[in-house]
Amino acid sequence: MQCKKPKGVNYRHAYHAGNFADVVKHALLVRLIRSLQRKEKGFVVVDTHAGRGRYDLAAAAKGDTRARTPEWPDGIGRLWDAPDAPEEVADYLGVVRAFDRNRGNLLPEPRFYPGSPWIARLLSRPQDRLDLWEKHPEEGAALEHDFGGVKRISVHQADGYGASRASLPPLERRALVLVDPPYESRTEGADISAALSEAFERFPSGTYAVWYPITERSGVDEFVGVLRAKAMPSLCVELLVQPSGFGLRGCGVLIANPPWQFDGEARTILAYLEAKLARGEPAQGSVRWVVSK
Ligand code: SAM
Repeated sequence: MQCKKPKGVNYRHAYHAGNFADVVKHALLVRLIRSLQRKEKGFVVVDTHAGRGRYDLAAAAKGDTRARTPEWPDGIGRLWDAPDAPEEVADYLGVVRAFDRNRGNLLPEPRFYPGSPWIARLLSRPQDRLDLWEKHPEEGAALEHDFGGVKRISVHQADGYGASRASLPPLERRALVLVDPPYESRTEGADISAALSEAFERFPSGTYAVWYPITERSGVDEFVGVLRAKAMPSLCVELLVQPSGFGLRGCGVLIANPPWQFDGEARTILAYLEAKLARGEPAQGSVRWVVSK
């Protein structure tokens, strides 16, 4: 009997783990968390599309039914041995390298890669909380395995767009909300806009980070209307690894209510990643305010 998957959850992040898009997203995520931790008061990290939490890069390359070309060599692989990373990127690399080692990798190349839930967990302080959402049954079960029953962590095997209503406003009145969907469904852009709109209404002072792919057809424009309508100061951080390429030629993270001076930090991160992640032509990084403060 064939196992039926719920609609819109065919995407498996394992095949993409550690790729250039993960590097951009996770390097920024580490620094966003650190920035919020400048204040003593705790906060919650709401991860609306959490994935399974961690990835075995060697197993992912094998695929379900056929071998896949691994994507991590052009992502985390390009930075693994880099001795020259600025502090802002070295912070992320330190987290990933320590995770890999602690999971038992003895090889010189990376093998165990932390997803956003593990990155947030490793950085969280006793006063911080994690609120993790994942809809895919297998990914949700893996997430539950690692995070279920852990103090100050909630796992929801459910639609992450429900987080706007269920998790906001948080008790702490401080939150970082990561929205990292697979962009598989044609309604994803509209779903994100609706969820953001509701979230901004319920909790306008939160910090929101929305990852998006840059292809011929997609980019940040879809969400800018919502940000403008709610007058949310928003920073757009983008890296085109292959500006004239086709398909996924880059990605961006839209950050509403970024922490103080985060634009400068993002510029340092992007300048370094631009040099490291280019594919066959110079990469282009940019950091710009799409809704100014
Ligand atoms: N945030 C993760 C990280 O950085 O490690 C990666 C997440 S991956 C890009 C997107 C995940 O969203 C997939 O695991 C997919 O199963 C899940 N997903 C798809 N639709 C969803 C929905 N409506 N609600 C919650 N999760 C969903």
